[in-house]
Amino acid sequence: MPPKPVYLDNNATTALDPRVFEVMTPFFMEQYGNAASTTHIYGWEAKEAVEEAREKIAGLINATPKEIIFTSGATESDNLALKGVFEQHAGKGNHIITCTTEHKAVLDTCQHLEKSGGEITYLPVMPSGLIDLSLLEKAIRPSTILIAIMYANNETGVIQPVHEISAIAHRHKLLFFCDATQAVGKIPVDVQKDGIDLMAFTSHKIYGPKGSGALYIRRKPATVSLTAQMDGGGHERGFRSGTLNVPGIVGLGAACDLSAQQMSSDSTRIKQLRDKLETALLQLPGSYLNGCADKRIPNVTNICFDDIDGQGMMLALSKHIAISSGSACTSVTQEPSFVLKAMGLSDDRARSSFRFSLGRFTTAEEIDFAIEKVSSTVKQFRDISSLHS
Ligand SMILES: *Cc1c(COP(=O)(O)O)cnc(C)c1O
Repeated sequence: MPPKPVYLDNNATTALDPRVFEVMTPFFMEQYGNAASTTHIYGWEAKEAVEEAREKIAGLINATPKEIIFTSGATESDNLALKGVFEQHAGKGNHIITCTTEHKAVLDTCQHLEKSGGEITYLPVMPSGLIDLSLLEKAIRPSTILIAIMYANNETGVIQPVHEISAIAHRHKLLFFCDATQAVGKIPVDVQKDGIDLMAFTSHKIYGPKGSGALYIRRKPATVSLTAQMDGGGHERGFRSGTLNVPGIVGLGAACDLSAQQMSSDSTRIKQLRDKLETALLQLPGSYLNGCADKRIPNVTNICFDDIDGQGMMLALSKHIAISSGSACTSVTQEPSFVLKAMGLSDDRARSSFRFSLGRFTTAEEIDFAIEKVSSTVKQFRDISSLHS
């Protein structure tokens, strides 16, 4: 087997941190109890481990443990937040405001709600990738119940003005739901300071296991009410029934704990590597950064190589580096990224754009290798296209 390509697709998923794996291991074979079993030590042990994880997770985002509801991941959390609020608040209104560059887990759920009588406003974004706050305020109607805007975009890393969004929401007595999957564990996220009422995130983007996520549901000053989307037993305070995924929850807890400890050192190191990669690639003629440079999470850069055969280049690069165009959830189709198109890029420019996302295990040698491979491949593709023209 040839060596595997360098992994620069950490916004799609991350490797499990070996320390997380170690903490999870006993909960497969030895401590296999059902956290809802109250009559024996197997159940008590599992319950204790779950509650310990809940505390760590709450600690990372400045929530209280009771405000954390375990789910199978951010997709489920997005569904629970959007559908749950829509159903619960049907008496008040049916209008939700979101944005064109949200993750498909939010957009597809909103489309589903449109079929059930929901009215959705999809705010445009500026070329920077940011929403326009005045348009947000103008979109509010008497029937509006929820604003759903993500924290950081998965393709560009652009961070929305979450604090300002929550201020607008609360001034109009609306709920604010935030998909913070790409922000939690990477940058400080504080549900109190940020004024978030509901927040989705997941374990496998922060070195935890797949199939484990959470929804934060505010309890103070008032409990946010929403309708459960999974019935059967009343687990998780009735918000999400089903036997808890104890190893997965323990893994999410350990991943959050490590993030809390290492966030500042990790992000400094990763940002240096990202900036080195970005600076080198932006020196290639005809290359542009997609999205604003400053309001971004530290681990990602999204670069357009103008006038290049994007698919051909991706194929050529895939032997050497694992990157993506668009997001993992949409790149099965060969459509150009809807996120980049919403930012004003043409189909061609969106097709010749690439997302490089670094992580905790990315090394300086890997970045040097990636710079070398991308630079030589871009030059090669430019020579080919100049032959044709
Ligand atoms: C990855 C991702 C999701 C989906 O998370 P899963 O846990 O894989 O369901 C949702 N939103 C954003 C912004 C993401 O990056």
